[in-house]
Amino acid sequence: MIDLRSDTVTLPTEGMRAAMAAAEVGDDVYGEDPTVRRLEERAADLLGAEAALFMPSGTMANQTAIACHTRPGQEVVVEAGSHIYNVELGTMARFSGVQPRVVLGERGVFTAGQVVSAIRPDLYYLAPTGLVCLENTHNAAGGRVWPRAEARAALAAAHARGIPVHLDGARIFNASATTGIPARELAQGFDSVMFCLSKGLGCPVGSVLCGSRPLISEARRVRKAFGGGMRQAGFLAAAGLYALDHHVDRLAVDHAHARLLADGLATLPGLSVLPPETNIVLFEIETGPDAETLCARLRARGVLASPAGAGTSARGVRMVTHLDISRAGVERTVDRVREELRASGV
Ligand SMILES: *Cc1c(COP(=O)(O)O)cnc(C)c1O
Repeated sequence: MIDLRSDTVTLPTEGMRAAMAAAEVGDDVYGEDPTVRRLEERAADLLGAEAALFMPSGTMANQTAIACHTRPGQEVVVEAGSHIYNVELGTMARFSGVQPRVVLGERGVFTAGQVVSAIRPDLYYLAPTGLVCLENTHNAAGGRVWPRAEARAALAAAHARGIPVHLDGARIFNASATTGIPARELAQGFDSVMFCLSKGLGCPVGSVLCGSRPLISEARRVRKAFGGGMRQAGFLAAAGLYALDHHVDRLAVDHAHARLLADGLATLPGLSVLPPETNIVLFEIETGPDAETLCARLRARGVLASPAGAGTSARGVRMVTHLDISRAGVERTVDRVREELRASGV
């Protein structure tokens, strides 16, 4: 199977498995796992933060950040296509007692002016704004990178009004790989940043939340309350350390594969392909089967892809390149799509 559904499907490499097996561990709820501590120090350093906390998932990291930054009854400014708003089960309402205020970005990116309009004026009958969230790269917009100037402007607009800003940087290392801007610069100015180890970096489990020392000590309490206190988590942290050593530089390969895939698909009739900035390829089937049908037919031919998610048409398809996708896999995928379109009479 050529599995292009997501970069979460990667399996640990031999080297990663060896690093996990050899990990020195302890009980992290007692603060005694040396490998978790090393990962947290390494992550904080990479992101230019005072401290960091190893988390079981990106969702828990985002929601922990929201719980730390806000009080019940507040609003959180989110982009319409964002992960936090669309695919985290309304957790901000459920566990933090806050409601989203949605801003419609241009392919995931909103302006400083939109931030200003979304922040509620100080009137006693309005829900005060507690937090603004950005997503880089923007998943649903096809792995789009937030332009640095726009991100700086949005940050400044929120900060000028005393509102903290959280960065959902699930794929911040992809943003860094494609722009050449170090992750710590992309993270600069944010009040908290989360990144995923379990996506393009190839770990079986894990994300990291980075921020100030006081924020991370509060996050440790919230993580425990959410059921995310882990014991000998060093086995998982060892995979994270291995990934930061060996899998960051190779993200450029995934991006090259995504471009190759997009270029190949763009030569096929009936498809409209969004040029990828990172490792996510989105295309629309203008003529031919709908997305569900095409994905089902491709599955029968050994290629897994997903109909593009919430807020997109029934004709959008998403393919994500990663560690376990080779150049040959990309070429085979283009061939299979070509054959399926031809079989549908396109
Ligand atoms: C995957 C993802 C998350 C959440 O990560 P999980 O570990 O799956 O909970 C958050 N934000 C973005 C943008 C993501 O792509």
